Amino acid sequence: MTLDLSAKIRDVPDFPKEGILFKDVMPLIADPEYFAESIRQLAAWTRPRKPDVILGAEARGFIFGGALAYEIGAGFVPARKPGKLPWQTIEATYDLEYGTDSLQVHSDAITQGARVVVLDDVLATGGTAKAKCELVEELGATVAGVVFLIELTFLNGRDRLSGYDVHSLIKY
Ligand code: AMP
Repeated sequence: MTLDLSAKIRDVPDFPKEGILFKDVMPLIADPEYFAESIRQLAAWTRPRKPDVILGAEARGFIFGGALAYEIGAGFVPARKPGKLPWQTIEATYDLEYGTDSLQVHSDAITQGARVVVLDDVLATGGTAKAKCELVEELGATVAGVVFLIELTFLNGRDRLSGYDVHSLIKY
């Protein structure tokens, strides 16, 4: 029987700001069976897209992205907040559901012509994922897909990602 992943997603009202219903994945990753099932489902979609690397942003993108990359035999590239990466970086700035932010990647971490699957835990407005796609393309690589654990469909994040192959495991 396939586990219902949504059973381990906790709704936290008014976090980190009033009016935001935060989808907390900590119960899911703390449960070995549910965590493994989430990685299996992410892998089933991602594997046929044949990525060389998975690109994930801190912090939850590291957890799912690292496990997914290992599962399918791809590499992992971290996107981080400014000032965290030690080598030469390129940067993208984007709007969030709650504020604005920037992400950096090492400019030599993704090689020209590489196939990259962009991963995040939650698709909200799509700003973060779009920024990561821009970083991939700025480095001359191809976005082979964009995958999420959770999609908040009422925020229409997919519109920001039109033209990309987008998938999510759980839709609200
Ligand atoms: P966005 O750029 O608006 O698609 O926001 C996506 C990023 O913000 C993801 O990295 C999420 O981790 C985080 N995020 C935005 N909204 C939520 C939410 N309601 N619950 C949990 N995480 C969220």
